[in-house]
Amino acid sequence: MDIKATLLGTIPLLAIFVIALLIERINPAQVQPLKSAGFNLLYTLLYALAQAAIVPLVSVATVVAVNAAGGGWIDLPNTGWGLLLGFLLYAFTLDFMEYLFHRAQHRFPVMWAMHSFHHSDTALNATTTSRHHWAENGIKMLTIFMLAGVIFKANSAIVGLYAAISFYNVFSHMNIRIGFGRMSFILNSPQYHRIHHSALPEHYDCNFAGLFPIFDVLFGTYRQPRAGEFPPTGLDDKKPPSGLIDAIIWPARAK
Ligand SMILES: [Zn+2]
Ligand SMILES: [Zn+2]
Repeated sequence: MDIKATLLGTIPLLAIFVIALLIERINPAQVQPLKSAGFNLLYTLLYALAQAAIVPLVSVATVVAVNAAGGGWIDLPNTGWGLLLGFLLYAFTLDFMEYLFHRAQHRFPVMWAMHSFHHSDTALNATTTSRHHWAENGIKMLTIFMLAGVIFKANSAIVGLYAAISFYNVFSHMNIRIGFGRMSFILNSPQYHRIHHSALPEHYDCNFAGLFPIFDVLFGTYRQPRAGEFPPTGLDDKKPPSGLIDAIIWPARAK
């Protein structure tokens, strides 16, 4: 693993985080100490190093599965209106898989043991986007991403577009007073996702969607935010990590 190249590769994401943190200061949902974002920025570097080690290993299994499926069952078009339709089909399918995976993360204790790290942030902001347990992406690659690779013979234009819109996730985590009110079922927003991160029992197990809340509507987990509703975030039964070591061993850590 080229450690220097991996760390340099995080610069664009870190730059996006810094810009988002500056925008958050205009109208924050919550006044936060700077050190909370500092921890997540540091963890982003550690997460990137972990992914650089894990992804090549896990990718072998994905390549084998995709090849066995003849490179993917459904060949998506890569020009004109076909590209747009293909992209929408790909994005909706992936987001549905992300929704199901997220439900599983909250449903099964072994997965919650990891995902609760993402929810441990009592100062939800743009940098929380990369605050995921280091092993989770490997599990996603071996399940939903592998399945998507088997289903779709997606061209680089579609995969690239989907990677680009995944940055929307940064917006959804921002500490800003932006919500879509009655239109919340159309697209995720900072207020909608903040309800998912809420520490209040009345908000547990709702608003799982990544991009399209229509999946929450269809499966009964939709909770439209009320006007001005920006609840506190975090876990009610576990303290936030005290440092990077604590973050690494998070699933095995005591309360
Ligand atoms: Zn969650
Ligand atoms: Zn989140």
